[in-house]
Amino acid sequence: MNIDRLREIIPLNEPDYCEECHKENLRGWTNSNRLETKLLKLGKIESLKNKGYEAYKKGEENRFSSEATAALSYYPYNGSSVYQCISCKGVILIYLETGGHAARYQARWISSRVSLKP
Ligand SMILES: [Zn+2]
Repeated sequence: MNIDRLREIIPLNEPDYCEECHKENLRGWTNSNRLETKLLKLGKIESLKNKGYEAYKKGEENRFSSEATAALSYYPYNGSSVYQCISCKGVILIYLETGGHAARYQARWISSRVSLKP
């Protein structure tokens, strides 16, 4: 899924909280809590230019914060899959984090307030 299609499916107005997906806890990258088994998978991110494990850096921006730019060519967005909550229509990206001791899924809610970059 490329950035244009992703922009199309992100709701302009959606509730800030959801009993189904609990996206309110996923404003920055967080353990997915097995959401990948519950939500509808729409496809994988197709980035403009895959930067591998390089992370996007923008000034002082903390890439784990809720304000972080979602730069799709960069890690971990470039390896993410796009999921949608049927209940609230919220769009959530999930990727498998393989660094550290055990692989684990990480999730981030991408609302219309998150700035996207190809
Ligand atoms: Zn939801």
